[in-house]
Amino acid sequence: MKKNFHMIIILLVLTIIVFITYNVNILQNEIKENQYNALINDLRRDTTNFGLWISQKKSIVNTAKDICNNFSFDELRQWHTDNPYLNINNDDPSISQIYIGLADGDFITGGQWIPPDDYDPRTRTWYIEAYEAGETVVSKVYVDRETGEKLVTISSPFYLDDEFVGIISANVFLKTISTYLTTQITERNSYSYLVDEDGTIVIHTNRPYLEGQNIYTDINNAELNNYFDQVKETKDIIRMEYFYEEENIIGIVQKVDGRNWYLAVARIDDASLFDIQVGGKWTLLINGLSLFIILILIYMILKARSELNNMNELLTTENEKDFLTGIFNRRYLNLYLESIWNKEEHVIVSILLMDVDYFKNYNDTYGHILGDEVLTRLTDAINETIRKDDVFARFGGEEFALVLENVDQEEALKIAYKIRDAVYELNMEHNTSPFGRVTISIGSVTLMLDHHINVRDAVDCADKALYEAKASGRNKVSIYTD
Ligand code: GH3
Ligand code: MG
Ligand code: MG
Repeated sequence: MKKNFHMIIILLVLTIIVFITYNVNILQNEIKENQYNALINDLRRDTTNFGLWISQKKSIVNTAKDICNNFSFDELRQWHTDNPYLNINNDDPSISQIYIGLADGDFITGGQWIPPDDYDPRTRTWYIEAYEAGETVVSKVYVDRETGEKLVTISSPFYLDDEFVGIISANVFLKTISTYLTTQITERNSYSYLVDEDGTIVIHTNRPYLEGQNIYTDINNAELNNYFDQVKETKDIIRMEYFYEEENIIGIVQKVDGRNWYLAVARIDDASLFDIQVGGKWTLLINGLSLFIILILIYMILKARSELNNMNELLTTENEKDFLTGIFNRRYLNLYLESIWNKEEHVIVSILLMDVDYFKNYNDTYGHILGDEVLTRLTDAINETIRKDDVFARFGGEEFALVLENVDQEEALKIAYKIRDAVYELNMEHNTSPFGRVTISIGSVTLMLDHHINVRDAVDCADKALYEAKASGRNKVSIYTD
């Protein structure tokens, strides 16, 4: 029992641990998936906005081209610094100036910058890149000499009457992209960063001090490097989870532009904050333990109750049973007879009274201890011949009563003979009886109960029959007839 109890406790504890671990994992995964889906939404929005931003800038370059189309090559060559036709950036603070590098090495600009005498635009990266690509290109990030701000150039080959004239280009400050990207101000606490083809962070909406730093050489986070290696090879979204500045970050990154720029959206991984946010495993553990203690208490209460019940049952049976033979006692017999008599419907009932023959002699010859044994042996034998529902009780001394409900006189007589024979067959030696063995005499009465006969009279009738059985020689059965 004690061993079982320990086993139950161990099993319960294990179950709780498994339960908690399982649920914490499910919860964490759920949190992760929700964050991930939110990030995907953010990235979609950022990608769209970034594309929009780029095409806005490109369209300004195209507008400049359209304007230039109204002039001839020779006319254009007359232009130099502060050209009003190219000064079309007034509405857009991100465009600093629009300029043209001509195929013959001349330089025209809508801005204020005067190139030095030996300046040749054809040696500049913005010129070479667009020239080689033969289409509009967005450059790497530069730092503006005058303002120190980060900028890119958008450069495009320019033709007049199908003849290549030069490269028309705009300087675009990156500062304004930030407003198009996800920032930590959103309720999801996510932020964006834009990385160029070299791995340099162009814009970071959460940690501006990282702008200009290179993912590979400056930040050098092995996990992050690995994700950026992966995203180079695919157009798909790459899911990232990495540890940076003491924080677990969850994020996604995707290639966005012809120049192989990468847009990432990230946030602190709430699933890793789970412990702090809801008390996590500890709360669950404490809850689990409380539940466990409650279960133990319930178990103990139930156990105590059932023990009490057992004790009560024992007490009641002690009250009902005869100590020596284990059959019902006189007290119970009386209560039982009363209950039959109090029944509403009229029943037929037979009462058998039995008495051991020459029992005084037996005691005198064999002693009280053997006498007691005779009583137990013969009650055992009688118990075996009767039905479960029959109430067999010790009436007193060596006298017994058997109450048979719904048993008529004929049936009662059969049972009486069976009992007498069963005792006789036990063949218990009794030298001071004329039968040489222990025998009993039985008196029987059968009554159709109505409320005119009382219990005491009924038992008296059985007693009279028993007296008759004794008088007619003992080891006899006698029926009360009147
Ligand atoms: P009869 O055939 O007329 O019944 O003769 P009897 O000797 O059995 O009758 P009597 O009533 O005179 O004697 C009953 C005896 O049963 C008296 C007593 O010694 C004995 N007796 C009663 N109760 C017990 C008991 O619990 N244990 C033992 N060993 N003897 C008992
Ligand atoms: Mg007697
Ligand atoms: Mg007797």
